[in-house]
Amino acid sequence: MTEELEKLSGYYQEGKLAHAYLISTNNNVKTLKVLLKVIKNIFCVQKYSDNCNKCSLCHLIDINNLPSLKIISPDGNIIKKEQIQELKHLFSKSSQYTKESIYIILNAEKMNKEAANTMLKFLEEPDGNVIGFFLTNEKENVLLTIQSRCQLIDVNFENKDFEKYNLTTDEYCNYLNLTTEYLRNLEDNKGSILINNSLIDYEKKDIIIFFKLCLTIYNQELESRFVTNINCDENFKFLNKFSNENLKEKIKLIVEILKEIQYNVNVNLLLDKFVLKMEGVNNEII
Ligand SMILES: [Zn+2]
Repeated sequence: MTEELEKLSGYYQEGKLAHAYLISTNNNVKTLKVLLKVIKNIFCVQKYSDNCNKCSLCHLIDINNLPSLKIISPDGNIIKKEQIQELKHLFSKSSQYTKESIYIILNAEKMNKEAANTMLKFLEEPDGNVIGFFLTNEKENVLLTIQSRCQLIDVNFENKDFEKYNLTTDEYCNYLNLTTEYLRNLEDNKGSILINNSLIDYEKKDIIIFFKLCLTIYNQELESRFVTNINCDENFKFLNKFSNENLKEKIKLIVEILKEIQYNVNVNLLLDKFVLKMEGVNNEII
């Protein structure tokens, strides 16, 4: 359900855009993708189409290099006062590229008190030409003083993945947590084959789901990098250190394993092979 968000470019044309929005979502990556489309729609000097590659402004947005669009994400685990001060400084001069300057705060719930206070002053003295978007998947943790100064938009993406695997939503979440935890351990270099003990009670059909979810996780990480260079899902932060090339190799590896598992192979041996090959990729390409 992204209609509310997509309406914003219409509001802009009508001169009705507010100067700050809080976007509450269950999927940061997908929401950022839609939001960047809306921003392109606002900034594009051509008539914007979904894949405008004619104009330099859209291109600069694609490579996250447009001076009048600033995306802020947590530094470590918090958004710091200094990051907001830098933003204010940057936007204190009017933009040479676009009529408006736009900032996006990812994981807005991670603003510490000092950052939020600095932000408030910014929100209270809005320059007519500055527009802000606060993205969060924990709206209840965004300071109320920020919430009250923003228009709220809810964006919910339906997750149909669980249907694909014939699982209930709860079962799907359990599998996803198990897989995420496993990969985090594996990628944080604690990945001896002992890690496979956590999967010992699972049957072959479960392990197939496990590998499919591994595939989803690496594909999503890669996809989010094409949206922007910024990773906005805290759960998969452990993948930040790996290059695109590294992730692509791992995707290939998992696809191969999914093919192999269809034949009557020994699942435990296959899991051990998986750990060793993943380590092999990391030794070759980081
Ligand atoms: Zn364009």
